[in-house]
Amino acid sequence: MTSVPSPRPAGAESLPAAVAAIFAGDGILAQKLPGYEARPGQLAMAKAIAETLAAETLEERGEAGLLSVEAGTGTGKTLAYLAPAILSGQKVVVSTNTLNLQDQILNKEIPFLRAHVAPGLNAVCVKGRQNYLCLYRWRQFISAPQLQLFADDQEVDRIQEWLETTGSGDRAELYWLGDNSPLWSAISATASQCLGSHCPDLGQCFISQLRKKAGLAQLLIVNHHLFFSDLALRRFGHAEVLPRYESVIFDEAHHLESIATRYFGLSFSHYQVLDLVKDLETAAQADLAGRDREGVIQCARALAKQVDLFSELFPRERGRFSLSDFRGRLPAWEEERQRLRDQLTALCSQLDKTAMVAESWQGMLRRAEELLESFIAISAAEDPSAVYWYERREKTVSLSASPIDIADELREHLYSQCKNLIFTSATLTTGNTFTYFNDRLGLPRETPSLILESPFAYETRSLLFVPASDFPEPASRAHAEAAQKLQRDLVLAARGRSLLLFTSISAMRGAHAYLLNELPFPVLLQGEAPKTVLLERFRAETHSVLLAVASFWEGVDVPGEALSCVIIDKLPFEVPSDPVIMARMERIKAEGGNPFFDFQVPRAILTLRQGVGRLLRASTDRGVLAICDVRLFSKQYGRLFLKSLPPSPLCRDLVRVRAFFQEES
Ligand code: SF4
Repeated sequence: MTSVPSPRPAGAESLPAAVAAIFAGDGILAQKLPGYEARPGQLAMAKAIAETLAAETLEERGEAGLLSVEAGTGTGKTLAYLAPAILSGQKVVVSTNTLNLQDQILNKEIPFLRAHVAPGLNAVCVKGRQNYLCLYRWRQFISAPQLQLFADDQEVDRIQEWLETTGSGDRAELYWLGDNSPLWSAISATASQCLGSHCPDLGQCFISQLRKKAGLAQLLIVNHHLFFSDLALRRFGHAEVLPRYESVIFDEAHHLESIATRYFGLSFSHYQVLDLVKDLETAAQADLAGRDREGVIQCARALAKQVDLFSELFPRERGRFSLSDFRGRLPAWEEERQRLRDQLTALCSQLDKTAMVAESWQGMLRRAEELLESFIAISAAEDPSAVYWYERREKTVSLSASPIDIADELREHLYSQCKNLIFTSATLTTGNTFTYFNDRLGLPRETPSLILESPFAYETRSLLFVPASDFPEPASRAHAEAAQKLQRDLVLAARGRSLLLFTSISAMRGAHAYLLNELPFPVLLQGEAPKTVLLERFRAETHSVLLAVASFWEGVDVPGEALSCVIIDKLPFEVPSDPVIMARMERIKAEGGNPFFDFQVPRAILTLRQGVGRLLRASTDRGVLAICDVRLFSKQYGRLFLKSLPPSPLCRDLVRVRAFFQEES
């Protein structure tokens, strides 16, 4: 474990007291942060985290210090965890859910804390390796004209210029580069594409320089994907991405189960194989000659052909499906599996020979061996603790094995290895308890926890609207049409300024077709433009209306008048067709639980709470939350949802909604 000298001077007050002084009414934030208002919830959160970090060590206690904090919108949780983390002097990892939040912490909160709280603070932001330019692949790219055929010359020139000034190689500096840029894929490296110690550019490599900086930093700002990919490597004693750390603070912790599931599992994809084949052909042309070159190219091409044939076995329907069911329906499975396995084995043997004569080919050999191992394990589907599934996309198929339960992995590899672990989010509880969250992550039910209500005045600044009891239930055929008419009336009452959140793409499209002809406001639809562009328009055109699904239920932050009404089409229950979700529900049933109440209802409550959280984003905001689903009152479980919502006054007729919006004019 690495200890970094504490930024608190020797003899200074205890950590909780030092933290309290920052957040007090006359503290550093009140003095230095323009517009800052002291918030009791923020102070309580910072003190609780400080107390957890200051408690006895892992060795003395024998287990990690744990704390879960649900902090409602507007608590100011980012500073509430950063300040105690910095003052603790421990090597702390802060893990967020998105690259945007990482960048925001690095560019906004860290400079402020450095200026006013901890002048010598050494904080480093670490992202996944594909966010950094790979110098080796860049040099290969610019020296091989055939690789540049599909690249935009201007983009290549701009990257060349940028490389003369960048110190980080981080693509976030290339604001003009598209999210799915093929150029970037060609000049960044996945773990399996990196040559590691065999790389001729290792000395200048951005990633290896970043690792050195991370080793010296006190505070590491990472994202959950990077954190769990590192943890997955640690389990097998493989080279780690992050240096050793003492404590971890997870923000947006409600995402941890799904992200950890991804990294604790195995995957094998058509795309990975074709990517390896492409790299093998390029490297063989550049590095090998004669029979070595021919041998590698022939083997690679034969594998590409075989993986295409293997993918053809799978139905064209897109989505995620059970691999075990599919295998049962395909009598020739074993034969087909053996063919692909043989081809992968042949490639490994060829690369083994090549790597004996050309050491830099060890990386390619490792990549091929990893693919072979994953394919054997997934296609055999023998581990009862895993669920096996495949995903069909338009052109590719991937096979995966996911753990049904991640609790044991987390206990063994995370909770027993850190001094302290802190989990926070605006949505961790369901029905005001942490039971679901604790159970899913394998945390003890008695884990210390804190619920901090949002400081926003929901009682006076918002209204919850649910249609009257004669409104059709979602299962009824009449629901879609009735919901669309109701949505129109609500949007008219709000004079546009509405975000409509749907549980399915078909419901969103149906409502869009109807509302386009009924509303005198701009109507924006998810998918018409990238999320950031749509949100810019939604903010700028105050009376516009935005219709969306999935990713817009969270992370949409539109303070002010432009978002005055959130309309939710129905309670967001998932259709339990996803193989991982189905396996988890079956496991709960087999253990004597009730999958609906113990799993589906809590998940729907958390999603609903995320959607609801889009409404009030600043203390001066006011607005209406409308849920077009009478099950909130007609079903017994409706009470659990109502109990989890903010304390907005309830109304069941549109007259009050209209009056609410008229009050502001
Ligand atoms: S060490 Fe890996 S990431 Fe760095 S330049 Fe070389 S190949 Fe690229």
